[in-house]
Amino acid sequence: MRRRYFELIFDTPVKQSWIYYSHLEEAQVGSRAVAEFGRTGERVGYIISEVSELPSSIKSNSLKPIWRVVDKMPLFGEEEIELSRWISAYYFCSHGEAIAAVLPSATRAAGLTAISCGDFENIAHKRLTLSAEQEAALAAITGVVGSRSNSGSGKENADKFFANSGGTGNADASGGGWKTGGRGDEEGHALSPQHYYLYGITGSGKTEVFLRAAERFLTAGMSVIYLVPEISLTQQAAEIISERFGNLAAMVHSGLSAGQRLAQWRRIRAGEARIIVGPRSAIFAPVRKLGLIIIDEEHDGSFKSGNTPRYHSRQIAMHRCAVSSATLVMGSATPSLEAWRLMNEGRIQRLDLTTRLSGGKMPDIKIVNIEHSSSCLSAELQEEIRKTALAGKQSILFLNRRGFSYFYHCKECGFELTCKRCSVSLTWHKSIGKAICHYCGYETVPPESCPNCGSLEAGFIGIGTEMVEEEVKRRFPELRVRRLDSDMIMRKDVLEETLTMFRAGAIDILLGTQMVAKGLNFAGVRLVGVIFADTGLHLPDFRAAERTFSLIVQVAGRAGRFSPDGKVLVQTLRPFDPVIRSACALDVEGFFNAELENRRLQRFPPWTRLIRIVARGKNKDRVVTAINRFFELVRPVITEDYDILGPSECSISLLSGSHRHQLLLRGENMARLHAACRSALEEYGIKKDPRVYLEVDVDPAQIL
Ligand code: ADP
Ligand code: ZN
Ligand code: ZN
Repeated sequence: MRRRYFELIFDTPVKQSWIYYSHLEEAQVGSRAVAEFGRTGERVGYIISEVSELPSSIKSNSLKPIWRVVDKMPLFGEEEIELSRWISAYYFCSHGEAIAAVLPSATRAAGLTAISCGDFENIAHKRLTLSAEQEAALAAITGVVGSRSNSGSGKENADKFFANSGGTGNADASGGGWKTGGRGDEEGHALSPQHYYLYGITGSGKTEVFLRAAERFLTAGMSVIYLVPEISLTQQAAEIISERFGNLAAMVHSGLSAGQRLAQWRRIRAGEARIIVGPRSAIFAPVRKLGLIIIDEEHDGSFKSGNTPRYHSRQIAMHRCAVSSATLVMGSATPSLEAWRLMNEGRIQRLDLTTRLSGGKMPDIKIVNIEHSSSCLSAELQEEIRKTALAGKQSILFLNRRGFSYFYHCKECGFELTCKRCSVSLTWHKSIGKAICHYCGYETVPPESCPNCGSLEAGFIGIGTEMVEEEVKRRFPELRVRRLDSDMIMRKDVLEETLTMFRAGAIDILLGTQMVAKGLNFAGVRLVGVIFADTGLHLPDFRAAERTFSLIVQVAGRAGRFSPDGKVLVQTLRPFDPVIRSACALDVEGFFNAELENRRLQRFPPWTRLIRIVARGKNKDRVVTAINRFFELVRPVITEDYDILGPSECSISLLSGSHRHQLLLRGENMARLHAACRSALEEYGIKKDPRVYLEVDVDPAQIL
């Protein structure tokens, strides 16, 4: 075999590709290959092109060989190469980091598994008769199936939209509907002709519309990606979808072997699986003929990745839809503010569902002031739990804090016990007798007296799920209680088992963190108790109010889905807080419009776009120097109407032993923010301090 040359990229932050030679017959674009890489020795890379002629700057005898080709059949093609190139431009990561996130590699989370139970055509299921609102929504979403499949005009639009923007502008286009102002306005509807939003109260039958829409696209020979929030909902959605679509379905979830993941990836690539269900990373499924992307619970935080590349599935979805002229439909009872704004402006078509269809009504929601309550279960909540149990119904208790209590405080001197490596409080986990840091995992046995002044008037305060569990068990020994939080689901299958038991009525009270708040549909739930609504409300983050609001509305939505006597009690120390009040009144429009106005005044998204730069490192002085240097580099290139917040210490100023300082670039047009950031990063890279890591987060979900 003659010598050939290939361009490889690796999962490293270094933004370049490398050329290797190979005599191996199986070397080909789309395969992973093992080669010598830097001082680290051997490493798996991704072959992204075959080089027919070496650039004159490269001497062929300086090149290294590919040692081994991992995939006999290509694992990825032009689409994945292009997609990851786009991700690297938009999210400021290397092409290699991007492709590693896209592909089902062994080291990255989330795998794919098949669900197989008969043929799509042969499955008989009870067909619900759609309501008029559901019909109308379905007609809008699927109106395009068939009429558009061969026209190619969508693609043209997409290309036009991506054109004349060069590398960085591409990125902006992705904003699809999310960008504000700028080119989108000039090109008008070229932006989002096929973006829909199913806005409906909890339990209004959004799922059924999604499923019917999926069915139409599948019947038309196209593929569907169905995104759901992480953990609890994946299971529920997967069951429904496998029941309906049989072996056309594939499901993404973590906890599969690398081999299984790969097998499913290939099955999708081969066009055997055409409806893919899963959390965040399912957006990368290599489907053929993408027709429809569904994002259920669009507002959910788990669609944003916490590691490089810090992508948001919604952003990727918009990009993929533009490239394939596919339809995007999102849904929620509590949309993100970004989506809300675009609906208001008609750039995403809003489709309303206003009633509960399975016999339920929206529950009666009551605010309970717990200022004088000595128990984490107020007298009223205890009373309702009792009533609910007597009626043979179930309760959900929600608290967004795991552990027993989360704040060690000395009454004498004010001392607070924080993590050694992070600037956050430790949480007391009574069941294992340790105080644990929820950010880095550091654990310690808490002191018996104040380490600062020796006072015995020191200890943990604040309610966590463990404490609630103890209290519930003490007060209701006859009721069956189960706790669901990330401490519990460390054990495999606990989540699935618990939800199945709860569904079957074998548990009376389900208690947990946001795991119990998301989209779950249980017929027997009469009562929802929010143990403490104020957690998170006063975090120094511009989305704190939005998050608190959606969480309350979402968890309240679990009650009374099938019967008209649903009841929700919301315990708070701030009964007059406008966010809590509007959530309890289920006044979505009122809250969103007020919050939009707040954001406008504060110049925060969705009125502006943000890029967040965090410098972190062990040595504080170096971190400060680095962020200041970046600031000096970006300041001259940032234009009018754009501003820089910071540099300043992050709210979580110490994390896993790293000091953190940040700055925020803010402006209305992402393309220009990108350009400024890119030019500063390039300058910065020339003399960067190797002991400080610069984290770039485009469209950050939080700024703590
Ligand atoms: P959402 O996703 O909007 O919260 P779901 O899709 O979970 O709501 O629907 C809630 C319940 O309503 C489900 O049990 C579903 O089977 C039922 N449902 C949906 N559409 C209809 C309909 N057209 N007629 C009767 N029941 C329906
Ligand atoms: Zn003290
Ligand atoms: Zn820590």
